[in-house]
Amino acid sequence: MGKKIIAVLEQDNDKIKEISLQLLAAAGHINKDSNRQIEAVIFCSKNFDKTSIKSNSDFTLTVIEDDSFKNPFSFNCQNILLNFVLNTDTEIILFGDTFFGKELASFISAKTNSGIVTGCTGFIISDNEIKAKKNVYSGKAVAEIKASSSIKLFTLRFNAFSVAGNLVSPYEISVNKSAPQINNYLIKNISANNIGNLSDSKVIVAGGRGMTSPENFRLIEELASFLGGSAAASRAAVDAGWRPQSEQVGQTGISVSPDLYIAVGISEAVQHLAGMRNSKKIIAINKDKDAPIFRYADFGIIGDAMEVLPNLIEEIKNRQS
Ligand SMILES: Cc1cc2nc3c(=O)[nH]c(=O)nc-3n(C[C@H](O)[C@H](O)[C@H](O)COP(=O)(O)OP(=O)(O)OC[C@H]3O[C@@H](n4cnc5c(N)ncnc54)[C@H](O)[C@@H]3O)c2cc1C
Repeated sequence: MGKKIIAVLEQDNDKIKEISLQLLAAAGHINKDSNRQIEAVIFCSKNFDKTSIKSNSDFTLTVIEDDSFKNPFSFNCQNILLNFVLNTDTEIILFGDTFFGKELASFISAKTNSGIVTGCTGFIISDNEIKAKKNVYSGKAVAEIKASSSIKLFTLRFNAFSVAGNLVSPYEISVNKSAPQINNYLIKNISANNIGNLSDSKVIVAGGRGMTSPENFRLIEELASFLGGSAAASRAAVDAGWRPQSEQVGQTGISVSPDLYIAVGISEAVQHLAGMRNSKKIIAINKDKDAPIFRYADFGIIGDAMEVLPNLIEEIKNRQS
């Protein structure tokens, strides 16, 4: 057996997150022509269903179990993961490009003096060399970055790899009941809002200055909730104090790549585009038919958001009932 590719999986409230299966798909892709061993690691409670973890490549699973890991905080996992990495013949570590993944990745990178590439959208593998692809210059160019440290860390953008093929469960599961190593940080559970959800949401409904008031954002939330997605905002809406910074998409906010991005009352400045241009489908709702967003949208609705959104929500309600 060769060295290991470690995939640091994520779950929330005992449910596997989609990014986890995508990380295993990426591990399989990297390992296509080599014989590294793929090992998944997950922090979870005893109620988590381990059989929900599947991949189209053979892999082993290490479960780090504690009741407090039902909603794990990276701070409580970082030293456990570091010990695991240091005691394993690790070559590559894959994380989700999420708050949880990025916090853990940066900690491991600093502690092991290893190179890290964040926000990867793909890999180029040749002659046992690995280069990560990453969007740069607000998504206008793609950089190919070679990791040369002995341990290489990558965080993967949501939807960069699709989960397909004949999926199998882990061929070996080891359960490690490690007590969380709690730091002296003040940590409270803020999972009630969007933190941690946005970067791996399949559907995002984002509102901008065109929503005209914080109250109107209830329409954004309502539509997002009907579609099983998350609410987000442009910086203009965040700067106006209408929405929390955790919802800001863009160059100085979160980068997202959902299956569907609905941009409402957003003009599409280049800094906003930088954070969402990798969305699979974009729908724009804007009252200005010449708004730049329509150049990037797959579908557009020209109209006042406060008229379009209630009608859209009503229509979805009717179809769902
Ligand atoms: C260094 C830097 C970093 C930045 N980072 C970010 C970032 O991370 N994310 C980000 O979003 N921005 C960022 N910005 C700001 C960015 O340049 C834009 O100012 C911002 O994205 C504009 O937000 P907006 O589209 O909501 O507002 P506007 O540009 O004002 O657009 C509002 C749109 O709403 C439409 N509209 C108005 N009323 C209605 C209505 N009733 N119904 C439907 N449509 C309506 C208008 O036609 C218009 O197209 C950054 C800027 C800088 C300089």
